Amino acid sequence: MKNSEKTIYNFLLKLTDVFVESKTASELSDNLKNAFAAFIDVKEFKIFLFDEILNSLKDFTKPWEVLKKNYQANILNSYFCSFKYNTTDYIKEKDVLVFPVYEASKLKGIVYINGEIKNRAVLETTPLISKQLSFAMGNLKNSEEMMLQSKFHKTMRNIAKIIETQYELNYIMPVLGEMIDGFISEHLIYVFLKTAKKKSYKLVWPNKCSDDRIFDFLSVINPKSTAILEDEGRIGIFPLFCGGKIFGAIAAKSQSEKLSDKDTDYLIEIAKQASTTVERASSYMKILEHATIDALTGLNNRHQFHTRLYSEIANAKRQKTSLCCIMTDIDFFKSVNDTYGHAVGDCVLKTVAKTIKKELREYDIPSRYGGEEFTILLPNTSIEEATLVAERLRTQIEKKKINIEDYRIDNVSSISVTISIGVSQFNNKMKEPEELYRSADSALYQAKESGRNRVIVAEA
Ligand code: GH3
Ligand code: MG
Ligand code: MG
Repeated sequence: MKNSEKTIYNFLLKLTDVFVESKTASELSDNLKNAFAAFIDVKEFKIFLFDEILNSLKDFTKPWEVLKKNYQANILNSYFCSFKYNTTDYIKEKDVLVFPVYEASKLKGIVYINGEIKNRAVLETTPLISKQLSFAMGNLKNSEEMMLQSKFHKTMRNIAKIIETQYELNYIMPVLGEMIDGFISEHLIYVFLKTAKKKSYKLVWPNKCSDDRIFDFLSVINPKSTAILEDEGRIGIFPLFCGGKIFGAIAAKSQSEKLSDKDTDYLIEIAKQASTTVERASSYMKILEHATIDALTGLNNRHQFHTRLYSEIANAKRQKTSLCCIMTDIDFFKSVNDTYGHAVGDCVLKTVAKTIKKELREYDIPSRYGGEEFTILLPNTSIEEATLVAERLRTQIEKKKINIEDYRIDNVSSISVTISIGVSQFNNKMKEPEELYRSADSALYQAKESGRNRVIVAEA
């Protein structure tokens, strides 16, 4: 093989790898640029595709960016038009090489290379590259669409799944925002809930929404709309329904052009799924009004805790025995969710609940008070004994390695958490049963304030 033939052969071989291995538009563009370096001192390498709606070329790697109608754009357009009307393989002017890209034999765009050509042999390869590139770009588009589709279905499934064990709106809604945000990365996503007075909306995800217009648009949605697009289609509001009434909304804001039809379709479907989830959560809540057990941990639920609080206080008074209350809260639990995801958070809650159960006597009464807070009623127990129980619980949790291998988090097979604890004892000065756990709760607050992972006993 002659030297120049060998260079071309190697170049084409390299291109085959580029086309097979590039997984994204920018990867494809960068890899091509590197391959061309064998022939050209590449200063600028761009793939442009023609957008029929905008009647202008767009950068293949930044499809959201609209080329301004400047000098450069005009030149590019004129190259593109040349290929439309002449069947040349390439255009070479000084240090610029341009060749066409087709899709199903229709002119789709151009490859624009700026840089000194060191070896003219490259010119002969352009028809071949042009064909292969069109093919690779088609494949890329299909696989990106498939990825989006599968991400979309995964998001929908995850939204449907939250309800299996969770039913508090204040917990569900921010998780929902996080999931949608993970799926729709090009736009800003906000989740709102109607306030108790039902007049206005409060942001529940993320922490801040600095665009006041979104609040204006929220005020005009009505129960008949599935979606409204404002600001020339850049802001979309997707209401959330429960029992035919709007209880919240998802807002999407595009940073550049308008939301595409596809984005809008996806968001409408997601809003529907979220509504169904909440609808189910709310009927689940109604059923739970009669339930006594927390679905996630198997402990008593908050409702049952109150029932038992009343009956145990009545018992203690009648039998003149000591009754104590332990209140615990997992330390920095939010960061467990943020670092490892909510499924791992749920696993931690289950483990903590199991440990609590194991450490108690049969007639002690553990409950999940809500979120990551647990209460324990200890009948027939002195404050000294209750403090020992609390301390034992604290050390057991601290020592525990919670296995999270099932969640496949790189290099992490187990994690640990700590808990803060407040302990209180019932006394006759307490006028209402609630005072017993409020007293434990303020001791718990002190435990948090004074550094966490400790037991504080409430003053009698
Ligand atoms: P502190 O030490 O002050 O208690 O910090 P913290 O992060 O534990 O406190 P915070 O109350 O801010 O966070 C509690 C978190 O618990 C926020 C919420 O998302 C999460 N959470 C509540 N319920 C559940 C649940 O059922 N599952 C999971 N995974 N997380 C939950
Ligand atoms: Mg808490
Ligand atoms: Mg906590």
